[in-house]
Amino acid sequence: MSVSIERRGRVSPVIRRAVLGMGCPKPRQVRIVTVALAVAVLAVGGWALVERAETVETLLFLALAVSMVGVSAGYLSERYQRRHLEHLSESRDLLQQTVRSPLSVGALLDRLCQIFGAGFAEVVVLPDAPDQGALLVRVRDGRTTETSEAVDENLLADVFSVIVPASLSLVLRAGAGPMQGDAMLARRGLRGAVMAALAVEGRILGSLMVGRCQGDLTPFTEEDRRLLEALAPQVGVTVEKLRLDERINHQAFHDSLTGLANRVLFADRVVHALERRAEPGRLSAAILFIDLDDFKVVNDTLGHPSGDLLLQGVTRRLRRVVRPFDTVARLGGDEFSVLIEDLAGPAEAVAVAERFLEELTGAFDLHGTPVTIGASVGIAIADRPSMTYEHLLREADVAMYRAKERGKATVETFDAGMQQTLERRLRLKADLEQAVSAGELFVEYQPIVALESGTMVGVEALARWDSLGLGRIGPREFIPVAEASGLIREIGRQVLRTACEQAVRWSAGEAGRDLSVSVNLSPRQLLHPDFAEEVATILRETYLSPSLLNLEITESLLVENTATTLERLRALKDLGVTIAIDDFGMGYSSLGELKFLPVDVLKIPKAFVDNVATDERERAFLAGIIGLGRTLDLRVVAVGVERADQLDELRDMSCDLAQGFHLAAPLDAAGVTGLLSSQTVSSAAGPGQPAWNAIQSRPPIGDTSALPRIA
Ligand code: C2E
Ligand code: MG
Repeated sequence: MSVSIERRGRVSPVIRRAVLGMGCPKPRQVRIVTVALAVAVLAVGGWALVERAETVETLLFLALAVSMVGVSAGYLSERYQRRHLEHLSESRDLLQQTVRSPLSVGALLDRLCQIFGAGFAEVVVLPDAPDQGALLVRVRDGRTTETSEAVDENLLADVFSVIVPASLSLVLRAGAGPMQGDAMLARRGLRGAVMAALAVEGRILGSLMVGRCQGDLTPFTEEDRRLLEALAPQVGVTVEKLRLDERINHQAFHDSLTGLANRVLFADRVVHALERRAEPGRLSAAILFIDLDDFKVVNDTLGHPSGDLLLQGVTRRLRRVVRPFDTVARLGGDEFSVLIEDLAGPAEAVAVAERFLEELTGAFDLHGTPVTIGASVGIAIADRPSMTYEHLLREADVAMYRAKERGKATVETFDAGMQQTLERRLRLKADLEQAVSAGELFVEYQPIVALESGTMVGVEALARWDSLGLGRIGPREFIPVAEASGLIREIGRQVLRTACEQAVRWSAGEAGRDLSVSVNLSPRQLLHPDFAEEVATILRETYLSPSLLNLEITESLLVENTATTLERLRALKDLGVTIAIDDFGMGYSSLGELKFLPVDVLKIPKAFVDNVATDERERAFLAGIIGLGRTLDLRVVAVGVERADQLDELRDMSCDLAQGFHLAAPLDAAGVTGLLSSQTVSSAAGPGQPAWNAIQSRPPIGDTSALPRIA
């Protein structure tokens, strides 16, 4: 209908509104028409009577004319009121409808333009949270725009400095003040406006405005202001609902801590990116899989609030290295992912990853504690048409693991060779959890021998897994998988309890004398705040003398987390257990600090023992470590002794203890008991002629019936 009217030519806005039934004459117009009518009637009637000079009739006429004008004005005013109410109820219907349909803010503003005969309408919705933008929906000459804008001074001034002093609604005319009002009209290119606050339950959510564009000279009136004021609460409710919907929507697809896309949204974006890739002229896409190195350590030592702060800091730095339209997601814990679309080539993805690692080099301030963290990044390129989201993510995940294996803080791009590793690791991850609960894990014990006396003085407990499907899997393979999946704490607990129970059995009779037991700890166990308590409970429940328990920690733990590690170690020492540094010399800890550490034993790795009998420099190095241990009153264990000549060298250097296949391989508990009973024979053989190698025995792989089960 509006189209046909436009075609007929220029139509005055009042008539147009009357014809369309979208507007109504204003009281001012009603009054003008009424007065004009009255003046016309009076003029004609008065002139006729004056002509005939009849005073009484003239007076009667005047009375009639006045009452007629009164009746007409009343009638018109009542009509106006009725129309006004009609519009009000019409507007409310419209608003109620918008409550049900969240996409109609634009339509709602359109309707307001029609109701007020205006070319401009606007809703400003202030953000819920400081880091979000304000929502601005505008209709100008029938075109709707919706933007999100940073809340700057102007925007706040528009909403608060203009509306609040005016008791939450006002009429503005260009040049008529207040100053802020003028500035606001100028910013929007308006001649005048009527404006009201959007307030719900006393909270100002934003503002609602209807405005006259430059060519429109009709001013807004007090009635307009009242009408808009009447409509504003309804708009407020609509907006509130919209915000709620948006919040719910946001919560469903974003991570609440970092505000990044969550797994669901990320998957959706990747799926669409893969679809778009099929379009002609489209470039490839890639995903980066990022895992922070040792984040759990930060979380366990400094607490979760610091961990959260770190994740937020990492998020900010990650955003800095990607383009605004790249999707950054937090997939959970310390895992992030980035989708890069329109990729010129793999090198571009590598460059992004390297920029990120560079960004990470500066320390984060976590509640006053400076913390540096690295990350391992795996990249997968969507270079095959058949590629799915799951494919891509898995490949990036595998590449990330390869990066971790290569020494952390590195970037790796997936290649076909990694596929096998991927399949194996996935299988291990899936099977391990079941294996732990099904009792597929067990413990073997490798004797530790005092070199001087040739006596077995202790054993090292080593976790074993005979998988029903995959055969025997070594701890070097499954322990990292357990560490990554969090299972390590449970495995560690079970190994510890089993080893303690067994040590009690040996001490209580099977061996007839004390035998200490060494248990390996993973950093996640040691750094857990409850760990010392857990050890205390196990010692209490198994009745093992604490002095017979030796806990082995890795040297790298001391380097990376000195303060917390020290605290935890002291708590353990307070229980009466001893502490060993495993693989000593590999982790580059400061030897100077060694004297301050609450440790009792240094374990020298096999790599340093291998060439001790053949390489003079290696021999000198080993002699240095043994000398250091003696100076600091620490016992030294050489691990990985495979030959008699190595043993002789170690004895010459006055090394205290040794462990290795030449002495005995890891055995089941019964094997160790057997060895203990033959000890007298060995002792009788005298130092230098250990008899352990003669008794080496491994249970056949797969035959686990005789093995001590964990827990
Ligand atoms: P580790 O603590 O250094 O344990 C010594 C490793 O050296 C054992 O390997 C042992 O079998 C091996 N070994 C000992 N003597 C010789 C020798 O003469 N020649 C050779 N070639 N190897 C020798 P295993 O049992 O495979 O354990 C590997 C690593 O897995 C352990 O190294 C330890 O770091 C870890 N691990 C084992 N059990 C556990 C556990 O219960 N918890 C944790 N967190 N880690 C464990
Ligand atoms: Mg060890």
